[in-house]
Amino acid sequence: MFEAIDSPYLVPYDGTFRVGRAATAPPADYDLGKKAARRELEACVEQLRDQQRRLYAQNNWSMLLVFQAMDAAGKDGTIRHVLSGINPAGCQIYSFKQPSSMELDHDFLWRTTKSLPERGRIGVFNRSYYEEVLVVRVHPEYLKGQNLPLQPPFSELWRQRYESILDHEKHLARNGTVILKFWLNVSREEQKKRFLSRLDEPAKNWKFSTSDVRERGHWKDYMRAYEDAINATSRAWAPWYAIPADNKRYMRLTVARIVLAAFEKLQLAYPEVDTQTRARFDEMRALLENEK
Ligand code: ATP
Ligand code: MG
Repeated sequence: MFEAIDSPYLVPYDGTFRVGRAATAPPADYDLGKKAARRELEACVEQLRDQQRRLYAQNNWSMLLVFQAMDAAGKDGTIRHVLSGINPAGCQIYSFKQPSSMELDHDFLWRTTKSLPERGRIGVFNRSYYEEVLVVRVHPEYLKGQNLPLQPPFSELWRQRYESILDHEKHLARNGTVILKFWLNVSREEQKKRFLSRLDEPAKNWKFSTSDVRERGHWKDYMRAYEDAINATSRAWAPWYAIPADNKRYMRLTVARIVLAAFEKLQLAYPEVDTQTRARFDEMRALLENEK
């Protein structure tokens, strides 16, 4: 199975991750200028493009990138920047919002399972089955809509869901899906700034939603839910990375570097043509050249 690449933001597998100690800002000595950061991101993206072509050609692995975050942390922008220029045919992005009644009539992994990347593809989940232990944990009344026949005590229910997620991800990893999970860790102060700019700037007004402010009121509950879920499900084959999100440039570059390093670790190569097939190339060339 694929094993996580190291990073200062890799969440350890032993349950010791603490949201309160996780950085929301770049390291103090980070001083990559705007231009240099842009150049480096472009270089990373260019290499990702090449890696994606190899992934597709080799057709053994698939890559699943999961993004979770509080509102306005920058999921959309990060996905857009990191995957810009990737051949759209080799990449699928899905956003998961409030589930439909049909989705609620299935187990909680059903809707995302239908959207997993095929071999050779990159799949991106903008929110995911993790909502089932995050927003649903903060608002357990949502469980009513799920019509579960049995409902164990809450603590047991979340534990069972972590177990289902672990099993699910291990199964995927065994079958060739490389799973990388990113929690974009924005501070409460920075979120407030971003909400205010959504109110102030007409071009950003459309992004503002009153429910975002309501959810912000549950900040502590969300942080507890994130901490527990991330601790319970960060594993070598499906690691979580807690990425500082207060500086968008740094966040995007950090995510791009981790994705690129994961690709490089796979050592993807274009399939080689065997000697028999190569011998036939000459025949084919002759056929083409002598076409009338
Ligand atoms: P953006 O605001 O950037 O457009 P978003 O992902 O925040 O993107 P919204 O439509 O604002 O999209 O919010 C989607 C909402 O759906 C979130 O509040 C999320 O918590 C909620 N949601 C996602 N999955 C589930 C789920 N399984 N059960 C209940 N709520 C969910
Ligand atoms: Mg939103």
